[in-house]
Amino acid sequence: MGVLDNKIALVTGASRGIGKAIAERLARDGALVAVHYASNSEAAEKTVAGIVESGGSAFAVQAELGVPGDVDTLFDRLRAGLAEHTDRYELDILVNNAGEQTAAGLAPEDITPEAFDRLFAVNAKAPLFITQRALTIVPEGGRIINISSGLTRFAVPEQLAYSMTKGALEQITLHYARHLAPRGITINTVAPGITDNGSPVFSIPEAREQMGRLSAFKRVGTAEEIAGVVAFLAGPDGGWTTGAFIDATGGTLLG
Ligand code: NDP
Repeated sequence: MGVLDNKIALVTGASRGIGKAIAERLARDGALVAVHYASNSEAAEKTVAGIVESGGSAFAVQAELGVPGDVDTLFDRLRAGLAEHTDRYELDILVNNAGEQTAAGLAPEDITPEAFDRLFAVNAKAPLFITQRALTIVPEGGRIINISSGLTRFAVPEQLAYSMTKGALEQITLHYARHLAPRGITINTVAPGITDNGSPVFSIPEAREQMGRLSAFKRVGTAEEIAGVVAFLAGPDGGWTTGAFIDATGGTLLG
């Protein structure tokens, strides 16, 4: 018996990185997990196969976010996927994890309106409208978790535009928390610090050590550590926490 038995979860951006670890953890806890991705179908199918091999239930859902019609596509495909696995068209847990970030960032003077619009479309607008649509099928007791970043509390000039999108995402948590409390639905923000998402840079020892220095523990975080925080919020022990900003940066914000 898992604490999330009979629950249905959608994790956006779950083909790789932090989202993959969240999908795996929620599935291990018993949920049927929709593994959303943009274009990397091979990675998404691998995530699903891993979950199924471990005795869990999952299926992949493709939808590029940040383009017109994205939310319709996502929910049409979610509905089709759920129909193959359950007779419920409901969502107990939504994790808004998918996000984009330019690898080296953008110096403040190099931010263009186009880059700004794209970042906002994927990282802020899409989660807002996914949340709005999801709420038509989230029952009482539902859980919504938004994956932000410690960068809303930590100045890195090259991440100004990205951090603005995450600041906007955090507003979804704050204002919806009040709006959703009468329905018994919680919504919270989890803010990772630098977290190994499987990108090649994490295999370079010098780069890894340099990134790790920001954390009080002097190492980068693991995707599983972020998934553990999400699992708490999604599970039965998370029911009295809403509207919260949860620092999952390994003490980076301690200064
Ligand atoms: P990855 O780059 O490893 O994975 C991104 C995921 O999001 C993939 O599944 C990708 O799908 C999907 N995705 C990206 N863009 C889109 C899009 N336009 N439409 C739909 N899906 C999309 O990300 P991380 O694991 O590093 O990050 C996950 C979240 O955590 C993000 O919101 C990020 O901002 C945040 N974060 C990450 C930190 C880190 O150090 N890793 C630190 C702080 C916050 P596909 O595989 O198909 O491309």
